[in-house]
Amino acid sequence: MHHNTISEIADDLAKKRYSCLELAEHFLNRIAQHDKTLNAFITVTRDQALAEAKLADQLRHTNKASRFTGIPIAHKDIFCTQGIRTSCASKMLDNFISPYNATVVEKMKQQGFIVLGKTNMDEFAMGSSNETSYYGPCKNPWDTSLVPGGSSGGSAIAVAARLAPGATGTDTGGSIRQPAALCGITGLKPTYGRVSRYGMIAFASSLDQGGPMAQSAEDCALLLEAMAGFDPRDSTSFDQTVPAYSQLIKEPLQRLKVGLPKEYFDNLSPEMEKILLNVIEVLKSSGAEVIEVSLPSLPLSVPVYYVVASAECSSNLSRYDGVRYGYRCEAPQDLMDLYVRSRTEGFGTEVKRRIMLGTYTLSAGYFDAYYIKAQKVRQLIAQDFAKAFEQVDVILGPTVPAPAFKLGEKSSDPVQMYLNDIYTIAANMAGLPALSMPCGYIQGLPVGAQLIGPLYREDKILQVAHHYQQQTDWHRHLPKGVQ
Ligand code: GLN
Repeated sequence: MHHNTISEIADDLAKKRYSCLELAEHFLNRIAQHDKTLNAFITVTRDQALAEAKLADQLRHTNKASRFTGIPIAHKDIFCTQGIRTSCASKMLDNFISPYNATVVEKMKQQGFIVLGKTNMDEFAMGSSNETSYYGPCKNPWDTSLVPGGSSGGSAIAVAARLAPGATGTDTGGSIRQPAALCGITGLKPTYGRVSRYGMIAFASSLDQGGPMAQSAEDCALLLEAMAGFDPRDSTSFDQTVPAYSQLIKEPLQRLKVGLPKEYFDNLSPEMEKILLNVIEVLKSSGAEVIEVSLPSLPLSVPVYYVVASAECSSNLSRYDGVRYGYRCEAPQDLMDLYVRSRTEGFGTEVKRRIMLGTYTLSAGYFDAYYIKAQKVRQLIAQDFAKAFEQVDVILGPTVPAPAFKLGEKSSDPVQMYLNDIYTIAANMAGLPALSMPCGYIQGLPVGAQLIGPLYREDKILQVAHHYQQQTDWHRHLPKGVQ
């Protein structure tokens, strides 16, 4: 069962090839078997999942089911889940049981999906390797001495090791696409505003976006249909009906124009270049035309991101003060001691680094020089893309510069770690939808090709990825240790 995509599982359930209970038990057993090594889950909701699966079988017997009733998924532990711990992989929220569901969680529940558990991640989604988690790093199923990427590392592993057929992630600067690439799965960051941020713990509010992670583009389309939509509780939510992505992706690719930004190809390793040239050949064979484009402000995206994201995180994380909820230090002497020690003891090193950096750039003397300047450069990046999309339908490039690296290899050098997101951050800066799909191996490890689309054109990049996946089978490969 675990080899199947969500779309195949939906068909199997409709044909009664197995029950929802058998399906949930199968995935829970796989988690029990493999997760001691992989550490992809912070919380496994076994009893609840089994109870929901039984209920799903009843609904299917009485024909009250939707297509997804009884299909198990996992949620990144950044999405609030009612009655279940939502830790954001931080000591600060280790004891936090959310009193409500995030909109994404609620919508997927209404569609009939059941939850296997909450997945590991970098603390407050800050990181590119999943090593900043309070619950310990998780391991890449292709080689357990390597990182899975981050921050949605647990969700990427869950799908890659077939511990869940699909999962949710969030992407502020690459956290869906980068781990998807390093674990060999498909992941989509939707347009900013397409998926509600209500109940999704905030990191950098002008960049954060939730999205699907699954084996195939078709599954991402199905999951996005379930997650997306206007939400009056998110002031930046996009008020338009959600297109039928899973239908649109099947339409033929006609006269598709693929843009190759020279800034993405200039410094590529020869191995990565070769892999991307093969992707281009496949797309050309479907009738695509390839055009060189330029995104001159692209090299500024990493420094600008670390000003904007850190500033916004320093403001968002000020709510964790030891007073309202979350971690509180033992025996505070006075109010200041309560604030200082709760935050000192509750946050990890990377989170503190970002808060300090952000507080500095937002301080009165530096605000114009850093934050305002960064917002201006952000506009330039968005304009570069807008210009490119006058000529092309989608942009193609790498998702990552290289395959997964060793655990511990970059953790003492934050700048090296930050440079891992060199290809993903620009899409967040401009709010654009972007997807990573598996497209080959370097030294036996998966890497991803990235497709970036114009605003609100998730359908376009999903369509291109779907056609690519009709002609290739990288997305069906499974790491050896977890067959
Ligand atoms: N790796 C980036 C960071 O550390 C992006 C994280 C994300 O997308 N949540 O901020």
